[in-house]
Amino acid sequence: MEFALNDTQEMIQQTARRFADQELLPVAAAIDKAGAFPEAQVRKLAALGFLGVAVEERFGGAGLDVLSYAIAMEEVSRGCASTGVIMSVNNSLVCDPIQRYGDDAQRKRWLGPLARGERLGCFALSEPGSGSDAAGMRTTALRDGDAYVVNGTKNWITNGKEADLCVLIVHTDPSERHKGISALVVDRRESPYGIGKVEDKLGIKGSSTTSLVFEDLRVPVANRLGEEGDGFKVAMSTLDGGRIGIAAQALGIARIAFEEALAYSREREAFGKKIGDFGAIREMLADMATEIDAARLLIWQAAVAKDEGQAYGKLSAMAKLYASEMSARVTHKALQIHGGYGYVKEYNAERHVRDARITEIYEGTSEIQRLVIARETQRELAAKA
Ligand SMILES: Cc1cc2nc3c(=O)[nH]c(=O)nc-3n(C[C@H](O)[C@H](O)[C@H](O)COP(=O)(O)OP(=O)(O)OC[C@H]3O[C@@H](n4cnc5c(N)ncnc54)[C@H](O)[C@@H]3O)c2cc1C
Repeated sequence: MEFALNDTQEMIQQTARRFADQELLPVAAAIDKAGAFPEAQVRKLAALGFLGVAVEERFGGAGLDVLSYAIAMEEVSRGCASTGVIMSVNNSLVCDPIQRYGDDAQRKRWLGPLARGERLGCFALSEPGSGSDAAGMRTTALRDGDAYVVNGTKNWITNGKEADLCVLIVHTDPSERHKGISALVVDRRESPYGIGKVEDKLGIKGSSTTSLVFEDLRVPVANRLGEEGDGFKVAMSTLDGGRIGIAAQALGIARIAFEEALAYSREREAFGKKIGDFGAIREMLADMATEIDAARLLIWQAAVAKDEGQAYGKLSAMAKLYASEMSARVTHKALQIHGGYGYVKEYNAERHVRDARITEIYEGTSEIQRLVIARETQRELAAKA
């Protein structure tokens, strides 16, 4: 597999890095402190084409590949993890299923506005009683003429407060489990659903996480993505791709934590030396640098597989599993290198620990990634036998 970036990918990397340096790093701590949605930064993401990176140009997107998306996600998340997840949800969990499973009328209606940042999307699968066991969901959408009538509550929805359309995964046939699930696009302009509780979180505080409430809400049948009963496939394949974005988010967080720890180790003195001259600190920095590069290789491998039309479910699960757990280890070490200063808000080290933690949970916990990897590995083995 060839990992040299082409001219476009290099340009995306430079553009995203400059954007992170100039527009995100200076304000990331304030966004975290205020717990405020980074509206101005998201508008700038749109202007750069980063809200619809892989959306085809004919539908109003940047028309780039998944590797470019992963590269941009890493850089943006290095600048601000909250901005990173807002970008990731709009790209991977909203534009991607509409582009892959929608018909041309649906693509024309929603992809351009989403890619241009005129509208923001969210993805609603989890519920108060079901997360990992997604097929255990309770929300129903029962057919009534040319509409579905939706009832239920979705939980933990990123962008829930700001989004004006939602890719909603529901039971259209509650007597079935996986096979009774469908995917609908719920456009708040025509079907105004309610916003419930806004969560107070450990990290990624600039991104909203809310419940969504559906009470006898009519959604046109024309808004269904794919066929009735395809929804579980839509949701799982969407998450397969989404995990590349979350892995890149975890990588970006780890990188900034590493950079700041390295800089600190060159300034701080103890026992008459820079702490970066102590073997214990150098070992930590060496492990951090190695793990960061290993994660990037896994992420790029998964992105290239998706770009080349190969199976990528196992690869994206590996990338997400490794990158998220790596990010937790790296941010933990970065805090440790800062000593007591790492524990207080004067430095960013504690924020990076808080921001990294969620990447081990959403879009499938680490335990679920291990299940996916084990299942796919066994399948591959059986196919060879
Ligand atoms: C900040 C935030 C943002 C989120 N954004 C979204 C979003 O935009 N859209 C959305 O739909 N959801 C979203 N989620 C939900 C997220 O995807 C779920 O929290 C996650 O999938 C885990 O589900 P759960 O919380 O119900 O935990 P559970 O599924 O109840 O799991 C609890 C524990 O049991 C383990 N476990 C469960 N099943 C197994 C198993 N078979 N084998 C081994 N261990 C298992 C889990 O790994 C975990 O450790 C978000 C969550 C958070 C916190």
